[in-house]
Amino acid sequence: MKATVDKELCIGCGVCESVCPEVFQMNDEGLAEAIQGEIDQADMENAEQAQTECPVEAITIE
Ligand code: SF4
Repeated sequence: MKATVDKELCIGCGVCESVCPEVFQMNDEGLAEAIQGEIDQADMENAEQAQTECPVEAITIE
């Protein structure tokens, strides 16, 4: 499973990074970016939590 952030939707609230910093980090533009590549199984639950809590549904995990 991989995570992506839609930069057109992200409002830079930082929730995803707070919930799952292993997968989501804020970039220099103040928007979230997901790590490249596969999400570690150990991080999946938090990654999905971040997806759920994103206020603008900018996170896709597939
Ligand atoms: S939770 Fe959503 S809106 Fe907030 S920084 Fe993350 S991707 Fe952007």
